[in-house]
Amino acid sequence: MKSQEILVVGGVAAGTAAAAEAARTDPDANVTLYEQGAHISYGACEIPPLVAGDIQSAADLVNLRPREFEREKGAIVRTEHRVESIDTDRRRLFVRDLRADSAERVRFDKLILATGAIPRMPDAPGVDSENVFPIRTLSEADALRTFLDRNPVRHVVIVGGGYIGVEMAEAIVNRGIRATILEPQEGILNQYLSPPMRLIMQRAVEEAGVTVRKEFAERFDVGSDGRVVSVGTDRGEKIGCQAVLICMGVVPNTELAQSAGIRLGQSGAVATDDGMRTNIPTIWACGDVIEVRRVVDDRMIHLPLSPVGFRTARVAAYNAARGGKGSPRHFGGVTGASAVRVFGIEAGVAGLREWEATEAGIDCASVMITHSSRSGSHPDAEKLTVSLVAERGSRRLLGGELVGKDGAALRANILVPLLRERATIGDIQELELVYNPPVAPPRDALLIAASVLARELEKKNGRNRG
Ligand SMILES: Cc1cc2nc3c(=O)[nH]c(=O)nc-3n(C[C@H](O)[C@H](O)[C@H](O)COP(=O)(O)OP(=O)(O)OC[C@H]3O[C@@H](n4cnc5c(N)ncnc54)[C@H](O)[C@@H]3O)c2cc1C
Repeated sequence: MKSQEILVVGGVAAGTAAAAEAARTDPDANVTLYEQGAHISYGACEIPPLVAGDIQSAADLVNLRPREFEREKGAIVRTEHRVESIDTDRRRLFVRDLRADSAERVRFDKLILATGAIPRMPDAPGVDSENVFPIRTLSEADALRTFLDRNPVRHVVIVGGGYIGVEMAEAIVNRGIRATILEPQEGILNQYLSPPMRLIMQRAVEEAGVTVRKEFAERFDVGSDGRVVSVGTDRGEKIGCQAVLICMGVVPNTELAQSAGIRLGQSGAVATDDGMRTNIPTIWACGDVIEVRRVVDDRMIHLPLSPVGFRTARVAAYNAARGGKGSPRHFGGVTGASAVRVFGIEAGVAGLREWEATEAGIDCASVMITHSSRSGSHPDAEKLTVSLVAERGSRRLLGGELVGKDGAALRANILVPLLRERATIGDIQELELVYNPPVAPPRDALLIAASVLARELEKKNGRNRG
């Protein structure tokens, strides 16, 4: 029987995981990965320490170079090859070799799209200047680091205070450079944490010397050398700087998919079934380009994070490559778990924040408590703030947030299986969580938060009955 041709578009997290899984699932298949950039298989999440100078060079972020990937994973890699269009009827890709500037048509039996996400950019003059840096690819990060190494940069303006914005602020400060975050919404990490939790993080960021201004970047003023010299804001302020970082979040990179007639979902990302198949039967998709089901409220969301990329890639590639053998794999959805750590303080979240539960029309209650991360008398013990949200009638856990200098982020992992199993606050109160003075206090902060929330739910139920 003729070997099947499996093509993968995109070569960072999801694309490389998909190509490796496809080659593993069908060792006889010809698997080829196309990546328009120069690098594949790198850790974008480690861009902040690279820019800070804590990681020696961009090459250290690369897990496998193209030839190593081919040898170890059994898939062919074509870097600097852009897939320009898909002919879904004839099952052909139109691929441009960017180095040779030549083009070819390539046949496929199965196609996996892992085209990722692209940075949201301000629609403002001056944004194309050489000292304005979006933070997404390894090449962009390398260009920023080289710029900082070679130029006398004293002040950097960071547009956007999401988790990448604050991580980049830490990287800049660690280089001895002043950083200002422009965040027009209420506080940093406002898509990520509820107001009291984000205040704790913001205080730590400001104490570390970062200025946070509730302003919108409207203009990038360009000097005679073609570089941005100041950022003009909606308050009429002019903030002088030698570099600007754009950290305004990302949008799914759906252009190729859309031009091929692939359907998008309600979030604006590519829609797939739970086997990661698109509406075109020979095409699967995975990673930052797709939307996924959040199990807590059954909503389809765009959650551009690495674990989602790896998990969906394995499902997509197995289903594409299995050729009718075995049973199809299904993706079990997400809870929305993620974490960030900057300037010695960390946050972990899983599930819904109270505002999201309210938006989803769920009648909910929430509490916030502060306890100790380890036994109170232990020298390394720090304050740990926990917020839990639950549905009123069913007492089902909907989500949690944890913030503190010690042991906060990883405790969010405890919530993940509980959210998947639709555990109640009573189930959390019953959890057997470890106690050891240097590790955790006799009663964990999560257990205390659950008890307080149980009382709160009781009160509310009592009031409702009364
Ligand atoms: C600074 C930073 C920090 C991060 N930190 C974390 C973290 O702490 N935890 C976490 O979970 N996630 C983190 N992320 C997010 C994580 O990196 C992404 O979720 C992950 O990279 C997504 O992988 P992907 O393969 O789906 O998409 P991408 O990484 O976007 O890769 C898609 C690739 O497809 C290529 N491509 C697109 N279109 C074409 C085409 N037509 N032809 C050929 N190639 C094409 C692109 O060039 C790109 O290289 C971070 C991201 C950044 C930038």
